[in-house]
Parts: sequence; structure tokens; C-alpha cells
Amino acid sequence: MAASDKPQKITSPRPTEPGTTGDDERISDEQIRPQSLSEFIGQKSVVNNLSVFLGAARGRKEPLDHVLFSGMPGLGKTTLAGLIAGEMGVDFRATSGPVLEKAKDLVGLLTELEEGDVLFIDEVHRISRVVEEYLYSAMEDFQIDIMIDSGPNARSMRIHLPHFTLVAATTREGNLTGPFRARFGIQEKVEPYRDEEIVEVLLRSARIFGLDLQSDGAKTLASRCRGTPRIANRYLRRVRDFVQMDGGSIIDATAASDALDRLGVDSDGLDSLDRKILATVARAGGQPVGIKTIAVSVGEEERTIEDVHEPHLIRTGFLEKTARGRVLGPRAGADGATGTPMTDQGTLDLEGSP
Ligand code: ADP
Repeated sequence: MAASDKPQKITSPRPTEPGTTGDDERISDEQIRPQSLSEFIGQKSVVNNLSVFLGAARGRKEPLDHVLFSGMPGLGKTTLAGLIAGEMGVDFRATSGPVLEKAKDLVGLLTELEEGDVLFIDEVHRISRVVEEYLYSAMEDFQIDIMIDSGPNARSMRIHLPHFTLVAATTREGNLTGPFRARFGIQEKVEPYRDEEIVEVLLRSARIFGLDLQSDGAKTLASRCRGTPRIANRYLRRVRDFVQMDGGSIIDATAASDALDRLGVDSDGLDSLDRKILATVARAGGQPVGIKTIAVSVGEEERTIEDVHEPHLIRTGFLEKTARGRVLGPRAGADGATGTPMTDQGTLDLEGSP
């Protein structure tokens, strides 16, 4: 049960986010991922609760109860799952909902676990129904019944499992069935970070990367990264590239703002795809627009629009979701009071550069 260097199974078909995930990002991601709960910035109530539950489980020498994290992509769910394993001193195995199609995919993973291990399932709302059914007994009774052979020889075999902790993450808590959700003894929601917290995330990452990030530069980046650490870190890396290629080394407010303008990120943190989404809705002239229409119009998957782009547009008042579709929110109002540029014709210029 002690943490070992057992190979981890990592699979991560995440929705694409602004700027997409490249190798460069994955490598530096590992460098900057907080290594202990005390290094984890923000989400105070989640961290405080987890510390209590972890301490109590350790005190009883029992594995932690199953944990469900919900919240937008890039807010630290995977990081927290890894930290739980670290705090419990157990192995961390990671997989993702879309990969777990068949029962045997899950059985393979479960039978490799040792007592107390953490099994992390990202995007758990995307597991198949049959896998979900198997998870029920695995989570509750730490055993699964599998069918071997078929036809007249078919028989069921019971496999006993070690007491493991399932840590699951979802961007769509509402898509989980009630019985499944009820099997998680610990349920925590991660929220977008306040700008001051993102500033802390950025300064910490800059220290690790050896960058001269000034506090006004950090504030500028923080105000435009949707309260999301992953996006903040990505923009920091891109600003570093622009500053380096311009022959400088200091990231101040001007450098940060220039670089974000060049990346097409406006002062509200909207990128070109966000603006295309709003433009599509604006063109409908007040009629609600369905997600399928938006997806076709902007050339992006519905899931990415719903999980990655809409939450920020809705939270910031640019978009509203109604039963019949999406309509513009008050901040995208045609009076232009939003800072969103108007064209000469008095229409919203949502597709232009910021
Ligand atoms: P999620 O699983 O919610 O999509 P991740 O845990 O993968 O998000 O976090 C995305 C990136 O943001 C990681 O590189 C991580 O280092 C960083 N990060 C997330 N939360 C924090 C935090 N609270 N403090 C510092 N860095 C964080």
C-alpha cells in the first residue's frame, strides 16, 4: 500500500480548451502541479474539508471514502485527486470515463489495485452505463461479479477487490445518475478562482519557471484567464515566448496585455471562439439558438462549447441559457455598454480582434 513507482495508467481525452494542450504544456504541467495540499492555492473550503476527512481516515487507518469533484475544466480536480493519494501515502492510478467502455476495461484496472489505492476517473459522466453498474458493487461491497464463458457454459465469478478509494471528476455533475452520485461519501465542488488567487498561482509558476513576472503583469494575466489556473499557466507560457522573442525578460502589465492581445484574448478573457459563439447567437436577433446550430456555425464540438466556453460566457453575463436555446446576456446587450466593440453600423463586433 506504500506509494511505489508502479507505472500509472494515464489517459486523458479532455475537451480542447483555449490554446489546446501540447507536449510543452504536459511537461511543464508536471513541473508546476502543487505537490501537497498546503501548496494548493484557493478552494479553501474544499481543502479544509479534505484535510479533515484525510486526517480522520488516516487516524482510523482506513482508506478514504469515495470522492466526487465537480467543476469546470482546469480548476484543479486532477491535482486534488493526486494530492489525496499523496496525503494517504498510496498509489495513484488514473483513467478517464470515455476510455472505460466495457466492463473488462474496468475489471482490468480494479484488479491491479492494492489496498487503499486511489483510482481516479476523469470525466466520469462519460462512462458507459454497463461500467457504471459494475462500479456500484465495486464501490459499495468491494467485489464484482463477472460472467465467464457464454451460452450453456456461462457462469458468474465473484472477484474480491482491495478497499480502494475512487476519486471521480466531472464537469457535468447533473449528468450523473442519482444512485451513482449517492455512492460518493465525499462530494466537493470546485469553483473559478478569485483574481488574487490566480495571481498567487501565476507568481508560483513564474518562480518555478524562473520568470521575472511583475505584480502588475500577474494582475493583467489574472484578469483575463477566466478564474482558471490551467488557462493562467498557459497564458504565462505564451507571454514568456513573446517577451523572449522580443528580446526582453520582464513580464509587466504592458508585456502581458500585448501578448494577450496577440493571442486574441480580450479584456474580458474572451477568445476568438467565445466571440464566434456570441456572434452566432447575436445573428439570430433575439431568437434562442440551439447548441447544435452553434456547434456547426463555429466549427467546434458541442461538448467543448458546453464544458469549456459556455460556463465562462454565462458566468460573466454574456450568454444566457433558456429552455429553448441560448440568447445573449445583459453584458452582450446591443447598447455596447459591455466594452464589447460596436461596428460602425451599430451592430456587435464579436468576431473582430479584441
Ligand atoms: P482539472 O482536473 O480540474 O481539469 P487540473 O488539476 O489538471 O484541473 O489543473 C490544471 C492545471 O492547473 C495544473 O497544471 C495545475 O498545476 C494547475 N492548478 C490547478 N489548481 C491549482 C491550484 N489550486 N494551485 C496551483 N495550481 C493549480
